[in-house]
Amino acid sequence: MKIAVVRETAPGETRVAASPETVKKLTALGAQLAVEAGAGEAASISDADFEQAGATVATCAKVLDGADAILCINGPDAASLKGAKAGALLIGALDPLRRRKAVDAYGSAGLDALAMEWMPRITRAQSMDILSSQSNLAGYKAVVDAASAYGRAFPMMMTAAGTISAARVFVMGVGVAGLQAIATARRLGAQVSATDVRSATREQIQSLGAKPIFVENVAGIEGEGSGGYATEMSEDYQKAQAELVSSHIAKQDIVITTALIPGRPAPRLISDAQLATMRAGSVVVDLAADAGGNVEGCVPGENVVKHGVTIIGASNLARSLAADSSALFARNLFNFLSAFWDKDQGKLVLPDDDEIVKAIRLTQGGRVVNERLTSVS
Ligand code: NAD
Repeated sequence: MKIAVVRETAPGETRVAASPETVKKLTALGAQLAVEAGAGEAASISDADFEQAGATVATCAKVLDGADAILCINGPDAASLKGAKAGALLIGALDPLRRRKAVDAYGSAGLDALAMEWMPRITRAQSMDILSSQSNLAGYKAVVDAASAYGRAFPMMMTAAGTISAARVFVMGVGVAGLQAIATARRLGAQVSATDVRSATREQIQSLGAKPIFVENVAGIEGEGSGGYATEMSEDYQKAQAELVSSHIAKQDIVITTALIPGRPAPRLISDAQLATMRAGSVVVDLAADAGGNVEGCVPGENVVKHGVTIIGASNLARSLAADSSALFARNLFNFLSAFWDKDQGKLVLPDDDEIVKAIRLTQGGRVVNERLTSVS
């Protein structure tokens, strides 16, 4: 089975969908790896590194020629995959809801597209989950970026010249990114508090040495929906949460927001009026910037200063840790491929009735087949 790895073309993309480690492991399974020249450059992986690991390095056309599977980070335009054979698998973060036309084009081109971000949240699929691996790094980087934009130190320091107090960090949304943000801020010596709509996170916050800040005494406060994701909250809850945030946020130096609700715009957690109560020099990092933002006035990919507070519109932060994010993304892909690898046939076999296959398969045999897409078309 020939597996192609293409060079990313999306503006600002630095990652690559394979690493020398996964090339070696896939080769050991019996696959032939072909990597497009320069694919790993922005992630500090040279063509020679890929060749040493067992891949051939060639032009895009040669890499695609005869490939049975194409690995990518972002879904390429179907036009740029011209030359790929019918029935070839296209595997990556294909963003199916926002790139519906591209998905239709994959179908028409005869490609069988698999969207890795639709991996179900089940134990068996944990090691294949690109959202978790990339969010974890984003949570870390959000704190590092906040520390760098903040004109003061994070840890308490007692020096001969006087004492500096610890920075107060508030994390809103304690999923994968939020947990890593708490852990990173704690490691840097900050005083950390955190909130979420899912009550299960209270214990996780405490176990990381941070203080939970929760809305109490409001009916229907359990915000956990299917797959461990959050649901949209009632008006009463939103009002109580806004009051809680208002009283807490004025005392914070750094706020990291990560709140997302699948299929909905990100919930608005911080208003302009609340921002105005923070002291000048504070920093807010909005990890939900690309999904509409948790913070009023946030601009994706930009730093905006309002009321003396810097709002960082964090856009795809995993890209700024290209070597690690590529290594983990590549390992997620390897874990998926190896789980469905048929040793006797020396190739990938995807059973139609498998829960993972059903969830991530977008197109097959020239048609869009995923229920999440066919039910809205
Ligand atoms: P996410 O990125 O969807 O959302 C980030 C966080 O924001 C969530 O914790 C969510 O509850 C919270 N949130 C949403 N609305 C909010 C609001 N109004 N106020 C405050 N917080 C709000 O979350 P995620 O990182 O994908 O994680 C969600 C859960 O799924 C976690 O428990 C995680 O451990 C679990 N998970 C399981 C698997 C698996 O089993 N394979 C994989 C990944 C994540």
